[in-house]
Amino acid sequence: MEADRPAAQPALASPAPAASKPGKGRALSSLAWRQELVKLTIVAVVGLVAGQLFSHVLAGFTVAIVVYLANQMRHLRHLRLWLMAPKHYQLPEPSGIWGEVFEALQVLDKRNRKRKKKLAEIVAEFQASTAALPDGAVVLGEHGEILWFNRAAQSLLGLRSSQDVGIRIANLIRHPNFTDYIAGDSYSGEVEVPSPINRNIALALRIIPYGNNQRLMIVRDISEVRRLEHARRDFVSNASHELRTPLTVLRGYLDMLEPDTRDGKGLAAWRMPVTEMRNQAVRMESLINDMLKLARLEADGYDHRLDVLDIPSMLARTVEEAKAMSKGQHRFEVNIQPQLFLCGREIEAQSILSNLVTNAVRYTPPGGVIRVNWWGDAEGAHFSVVDSGIGIEAADIPRLTERFYRVDVGRSRASGGTGLGLSIVKHALERHDGRLRIDSELGAGSTFRCDFPPHRVDGHEALPVSGNIVH
Ligand code: ADP
Repeated sequence: MEADRPAAQPALASPAPAASKPGKGRALSSLAWRQELVKLTIVAVVGLVAGQLFSHVLAGFTVAIVVYLANQMRHLRHLRLWLMAPKHYQLPEPSGIWGEVFEALQVLDKRNRKRKKKLAEIVAEFQASTAALPDGAVVLGEHGEILWFNRAAQSLLGLRSSQDVGIRIANLIRHPNFTDYIAGDSYSGEVEVPSPINRNIALALRIIPYGNNQRLMIVRDISEVRRLEHARRDFVSNASHELRTPLTVLRGYLDMLEPDTRDGKGLAAWRMPVTEMRNQAVRMESLINDMLKLARLEADGYDHRLDVLDIPSMLARTVEEAKAMSKGQHRFEVNIQPQLFLCGREIEAQSILSNLVTNAVRYTPPGGVIRVNWWGDAEGAHFSVVDSGIGIEAADIPRLTERFYRVDVGRSRASGGTGLGLSIVKHALERHDGRLRIDSELGAGSTFRCDFPPHRVDGHEALPVSGNIVH
């Protein structure tokens, strides 16, 4: 019997120490059981003796047992009342086994209450600290319903404490970016939306799944970051515009002076400086043009109009220009799939083609081979430029699309580079949902490949399902 109820045993003596001294608790418990058995035996014997006196042994025994059971029922009633309202009902302190049970239950109840209080304190502390966070935090339930949010979420999303708990977050933030993000279930990265209460506030939302189908949504105010980015873009764009006019004037005069110095009509001493000034002016002009191109690509005003681009013709022209630039020093192998058109913007697509093809010419020593490919398959359309040039070290490859990043600054400048070409390619590709892949080995040539998804291909339903050509 003792083995049936080990949990209650430690609590018989003074509650707290008893819990840590199971040996003592067990001794007292067995004593209580023995007392209870003795009590039951005495009651039965008294019943039997009384029955004997009145010549009704069985009746006497039955009455005694009924009295004993009634006493047990009384204790059970106390227990039931206490269980229903442990805080408000005072349990009696009977001796014996019931005393032990009542005491053990009260100790358990006290311990639970302490634990609950501690947990409540931790939760309150957590809520107080998250409430003070500058970022908004919203706890979402299984179906995206709001369970809890902090003060910052209140001011950033306009949530109201009483009304909005239980409402689905997708009903409050109705921006298409967020609708797609929450429906996606993968929650990779962040999504940017304007605040539902003030369109001038830009918010970055991130959902982090945790626990049992719950999700934590972090809301960051990124208006300041966006404002600074805007200011930087405007500055670059305005400065480039402003510089362009005086530079055009300077270049015009330098162009006029150069034939004079070349023909020997002007001052011989000016020949070199004028040519150098003119070269530098041309370099500044290409820098400004590239900076303007980048600023335009980054500009917020997204032009949604798309044209059908005849990439085969554009590529053929680009290769002709590259051949002129190469002056016959390179061998060109061109493999263009006819009638494979792209939906996009011509100026941007032209930047992609020209930058990659001219880079191949500039970074491939004379005698090298340049292969230009344009083909379509089930994954979309692909453009690749493969050269047998100087190649790039693996460590430099991830940084090539950074602005002004050049592996060899001298070589880049000498061949008229601005260090912005691949940045332009990357941005222009992003605006066409494309991706740039660079494979290269130092001294063994490079492959620059652009992949465009099927939805960007004009008439993509006609793309072959299999049988890809590998370039
Ligand atoms: P740049 O005007 O300097 O060419 P890009 O942004 O076009 O600027 O290219 C960045 C750098 O990447 C170049 O300076 C060069 O070091 C390297 N690079 C680009 N294309 C090639 C290539 N085909 N072969 C080797 N290096 C290349």
